[in-house]
Amino acid sequence: MRSDNPNSNLDDKPSNSVTQWFIEGYDGSALMIKVRETLFEKRSLQYIQIFDTESFGKMLVLDGKIQLTEKDEGMYHEMLVHVPLFSVDNPDKILVIGGGDGGSVREVLKHEPTEVIMVEIDREVVDACQMYIGVDEGALKDERVTVLFEDGIEFVRTSKEKFDVIIVDGTDPNPVSKNLIAEEFYRYCSKIANLFATQSQSPFVQDQYFVELIQNARRGFNFCSVYINYVPTYPLGLWSYLLASNNELNPSYAEIKRRWEERKIETKHYNPELHMASFALPEWLKKRLEKI
Ligand code: SAM
Repeated sequence: MRSDNPNSNLDDKPSNSVTQWFIEGYDGSALMIKVRETLFEKRSLQYIQIFDTESFGKMLVLDGKIQLTEKDEGMYHEMLVHVPLFSVDNPDKILVIGGGDGGSVREVLKHEPTEVIMVEIDREVVDACQMYIGVDEGALKDERVTVLFEDGIEFVRTSKEKFDVIIVDGTDPNPVSKNLIAEEFYRYCSKIANLFATQSQSPFVQDQYFVELIQNARRGFNFCSVYINYVPTYPLGLWSYLLASNNELNPSYAEIKRRWEERKIETKHYNPELHMASFALPEWLKKRLEKI
């Protein structure tokens, strides 16, 4: 959704020019981002928009919801990927579901896996992001990466392959992404991988979705833990992720630090200290999880 600048005093251009704003509203509040130019717009499986913005670089929007901006996508993708991958000694075969922009696969490749399969339902998202944004930095063309265009739930339902880690980088709740929080989805995933991570939206303004995701994940995996992060352009900035496994995983700080030093991975945001701290939840969220 875009509109003329509602407050002309915000505009640093002559009053005859129209400043465009992208506005994402949620639960009686909204984020406004100044748009320089609309680079791409298409309705396919989803309504895809790509903007060049004044202060956040290129921005991908699906069905009116911000998916990534160049400025803060690293904060999101690094915590989604490195928390699970540093939780294990040998993340060798990785499944990424969703993630059409390629940011998650870019981070996965830093762990030198043998094979990455990315299952993305909307080819148009991949093509548009490759054309106008490029956050994958060539990762989707890496010879270790296979990109399949299908529904993630269909892939895990029929897959005969086993994975070391599954990472779900899905969209906000919409008709195509609702499958990625279905109970059967988690049950299929737990049969083909021991470790699973997904973004789980905002527990602060998307409680219903968050609760449904946790409830269903707990029916698929024996151990589920939530960790949090901040992503400025996501609803009110607080973001959550779910780490789930079939057998208990409690890597110590020393183990994570050792893997971090061994793998020598460059990051903008993630580090072992933040890894450990991200599982320290505020009281309101701890109590919310106890009630689910
Ligand atoms: N970082 C974003 C977030 O946390 O909201 C997600 C970004 S990424 C662009 C989300 C991707 O999930 C999109 O490319 C979308 O097409 C894909 N997706 C949604 N539902 C899917 C499904 N059922 N199977 C596979 N991919 C799906």
